[in-house]
Amino acid sequence: MYEPLLNRFIAYAKVNTRSNPHSSTIPSTPSQIDFALNLAEELKKIGLDEVEYNEDNGFVTATLPSNVDKDVPVIGFLAHIDTADYAAENIQPQVHRNYDGKDILLNEELAITMTVAEFPQLKNYVGQTVITTDGTTLLGADDKAGMASIVSAMEEYIKHPERPHGKIRVAFGPDEEIGTGALLFDVEHFDADFAYTLDSGIVGKFEYETFNAAQAEITFKGTSVHPGSAKDSMVNALLLAAQFATALPQEEVPEKTEGYEGFYMLSSQVGTIDEVKATYIIRDHDKRLFENRKRHFKELVDQFNSTFDQPRLSLKLYDQYYNMRDIIEKDMYSVDLALEAYRELGIEPDVKPFRGGTDGSIITYKGLPTPNIFTGSENLHGKYEFVTLEGMEKAADVVMKIIELTAAK
Ligand SMILES: [Zn+2]
Repeated sequence: MYEPLLNRFIAYAKVNTRSNPHSSTIPSTPSQIDFALNLAEELKKIGLDEVEYNEDNGFVTATLPSNVDKDVPVIGFLAHIDTADYAAENIQPQVHRNYDGKDILLNEELAITMTVAEFPQLKNYVGQTVITTDGTTLLGADDKAGMASIVSAMEEYIKHPERPHGKIRVAFGPDEEIGTGALLFDVEHFDADFAYTLDSGIVGKFEYETFNAAQAEITFKGTSVHPGSAKDSMVNALLLAAQFATALPQEEVPEKTEGYEGFYMLSSQVGTIDEVKATYIIRDHDKRLFENRKRHFKELVDQFNSTFDQPRLSLKLYDQYYNMRDIIEKDMYSVDLALEAYRELGIEPDVKPFRGGTDGSIITYKGLPTPNIFTGSENLHGKYEFVTLEGMEKAADVVMKIIELTAAK
């Protein structure tokens, strides 16, 4: 049904839209602007209305106008333009049709193979069209697969005006991977009643619970003195930072937790005897436990400072996003509708608390409930990333089924 889906995905995937966490521009990289402008042209060409590129936030939005006489809710669908902070230069998607279930040679020259021993889930895709990298970059199925599925579903509706649908809004935005894109999303202008991101993994996944998230940046100030005369005067910021890291609960780290268990994670630490800068992330699904974690972190900083005659640690602690469940569970309509669509299509819903955040975590708190639908992709953010055409088709099916069910109610 979605003839152009594969080609559309490949065309999107080939463009380097890597975001840059160290940039202060919006979007974080100019290539995302070029991509968005081309996308806007494509959306106009397939026949969507109100196609707009907003240069203040980097989002492309468009409308599929209602073709029914009654009032039905306006549904939004979103995907992100950028790809993770991983090699994205010269992406060469490889298409493996009628996949035979064996190891996949990604790159003959460099002898890079994706093996079934290492990735046993490959067995689930026998007979399907598997799209991989050439072993040197990521694929960017996160989230070009989501984009391609949404655009292809819109194109289907335009080609088949006899199918009833309400008003649909679509949005494609930058910088999801660096957690900033959705902060500037204009929910009022988008004007949907509820929305979905297509930004999850394998077929069946559905998420409406995410972490509450905060980031802590600590600077450890040392006193650097020649080691020969350092007695009673040197304060080694490197050791101080190491002591701080080991004073945190050692079992509450990502590698030792799962499900609803929260954690602290040291994500970077650089410095010298004189000064160390460390970054931690703090995560918990439960708002109360999340607040406790932040409090514990602050208290530990104070405790360390109290052992010196001057403050040696300075802390910048800020919230990044919140668990969308706390909002969505007040009205489960968007969740129930999506799961009904999954079941009608014979897709077994796999609903688990997501150990991360999505654009929806931020957008939901702006007032637009936005759970997350699968894209059919796996092994995201690296050279073993892949997606199947069948998975992308199912994601497009879910989009269309949600629209169809809404128009029929
Ligand atoms: Zn993503």
